[in-house]
Amino acid sequence: ATPTALMVGIGRAATLGILIKGHDALEASGTITTVVLDKTGTLTTGRMTVENITAFGIPEHELWRLTASVEQGSEHAIAHAIQKAAASHITVLHPLEDFKVLPGLGASARIAGHPVLVGNADLLREHGIDLNPAASALAEAHEQGHTVALVARDAKLIGALALTDTIKPGAVDVIRALHAQRLKTVLLTGDSPAAGARIAAELGIERVHAGVAPAQKADIVRQLQETGERVAMVGDGINDAVALATADLGLALVSGTDIALKAADIILVRDDLHVIPDAIAISRKTLRTIR
Ligand code: ADP
Ligand code: MG
Repeated sequence: ATPTALMVGIGRAATLGILIKGHDALEASGTITTVVLDKTGTLTTGRMTVENITAFGIPEHELWRLTASVEQGSEHAIAHAIQKAAASHITVLHPLEDFKVLPGLGASARIAGHPVLVGNADLLREHGIDLNPAASALAEAHEQGHTVALVARDAKLIGALALTDTIKPGAVDVIRALHAQRLKTVLLTGDSPAAGARIAAELGIERVHAGVAPAQKADIVRQLQETGERVAMVGDGINDAVALATADLGLALVSGTDIALKAADIILVRDDLHVIPDAIAISRKTLRTIR
């Protein structure tokens, strides 16, 4: 490979807001066959809205208060959405003790001496909590493709909140452009299968892996590599970092967390997904020039 041609490729990419960290990354991106995309914050805006709330055996305003109190410690999109919605129902939050982020699951804290959990069904199941009271809320959310945040206090279910996230403008075109380049697409998310399927269907993504724990994201990448795929991974979060590093090519959005940016080979400076097909096109072209 001639260094000059590679430098020209890297330079051209940079003018489009695509920061390629060195020659290896450029060479890798020219050989990609599958693009794996994280959902929340990558394909969706990461801004979620609470669609509805159901309280089980406690007043609704107290459910808002407990949920928002736990989520004040979290940076997750779900936490931000709940904080925002709660502000029109309550004014004062409970102080938190023992707050913990549970990656890919939710968050926990102690409020006035009582353990409170906010998170997905897996988290509550892990704690042996009976989800039956939420059966109809969960079924409805499944049908609508909503994401559900469940709330438990003292190991008892006390509430369910249904949320949606918004697809980024232009995401459909980006997936179409990737397919036009004969690239396969895979949606990877820690969110529920219902929410994953809804977003994949709207975007025309062929394959979905939902309910994937952060540690498993890299396993999915590895499995694809074992079937002969050359994998690019696009992500933004802490939960994507290992998968970004495992992939043949890791692309991180500049709006993402520091650790994602460090793990990536390419940084998309403009937070515009259109540059993903551009990055691969430039790299392919550069490699053709070289060979
Ligand atoms: P994604 O892959 O969609 O970015 P994450 O791996 O961050 O998702 O989280 C996976 C799932 O864990 C979320 O869809 C949600 O169900 C649950 N979760 C994570 N953090 C929180 C939180 N702070 N509050 C409620 N639920 C959460
Ligand atoms: Mg994400």
